[in-house]
Amino acid sequence: MYVPEPISKLIEGFMRLPGIGPKTAGRLAFFVLSMEEEDVLDLAKALVRAKRDLRTCSVCGNITDQDPCYICTDQKRDRSVICVVQDTKDLMAMERTREYNGLYHVLHGAISPIEGIGPDELKIPDLLKRLSDDTVQELILATNPNIEGEATAMYLSKLVKPFGLKVTRIAHGLPVGGDLEYADEVTLTKALEGRREI
Ligand SMILES: [Zn+2]
Repeated sequence: MYVPEPISKLIEGFMRLPGIGPKTAGRLAFFVLSMEEEDVLDLAKALVRAKRDLRTCSVCGNITDQDPCYICTDQKRDRSVICVVQDTKDLMAMERTREYNGLYHVLHGAISPIEGIGPDELKIPDLLKRLSDDTVQELILATNPNIEGEATAMYLSKLVKPFGLKVTRIAHGLPVGGDLEYADEVTLTKALEGRREI
């Protein structure tokens, strides 16, 4: 079957996105063709801007268009608590609950020997740097409730022992093996409220 190159390129582009197979990619590509040119340009600009203007916060690792990010610079935030999450998507899930008012630290992954990800590949040295003054009193370990997330929480709890902080782990009640980002707000709020010292 002959497919004009601009369409096959578009389909290829969509297929690089997670969860998009050839059929969906084809549907999306033809949908784009049916869109107004102005809307297509807006979409293209949004893609480029997101890539070009965003960076990771030098303090917490959050994805941001200003450095330090709006959470790190918000003076209304409780600076005595840091919630450690694996990804920015998890940070966003926590923010959706509107129950948490402390700071964050985004690790950008979890320890996974199978995938060859050790502590050095994560933003752990940056976290230790943040703990070296006396501002932080509590560290909430909100890594995912799966093997990698638990291993990372255990590793961190041991690592930060010398700082003499209160270290807590969010409660189980989150679906085991699941991702924080997919937990609904009520479940996540309960997990946060039910956190236990480890
Ligand atoms: Zn930040």
